[in-house]
Amino acid sequence: MHINDAVFLEDLCPKFKFRQWRKSIHRFTGKSCIYCGKPSESIDHVLPRSQGGLSTTENCVPACLSCNGDKSNENALYWYRRQKFYDPRRAMAIRAWLEGDLRLAIRLLQWANPNFKISNKNDKKNESEYKAA
Ligand SMILES: [Zn+2]
Repeated sequence: MHINDAVFLEDLCPKFKFRQWRKSIHRFTGKSCIYCGKPSESIDHVLPRSQGGLSTTENCVPACLSCNGDKSNENALYWYRRQKFYDPRRAMAIRAWLEGDLRLAIRLLQWANPNFKISNKNDKKNESEYKAA
């Protein structure tokens, strides 16, 4: 059974799974930092691991190295409020993200940044599959 093999492979290769997961986090924001909008180069824990924060999608946001380093072990929402680039729409987006409502988070980020783009690679792929069939 191919389907069972695939599940088994993911269990055997947690590193591969982890990399895919990291990529998908960056894709949600079009590879931009959730705090300042610069290119995201890292994954930041909104609630730091030192305070019991988990490595789940709800607690992990794309961040640039500057924000990630500056925030350090602080709770992101408290830290973000003190930043010069503070934007209430982004603060709302971070809150929505934490609650697991990524669709709302992305919509708020789009509102905060009109240049925000999401790749449509999946749509194109489906289209070519449709043509092949
Ligand atoms: Zn940043």
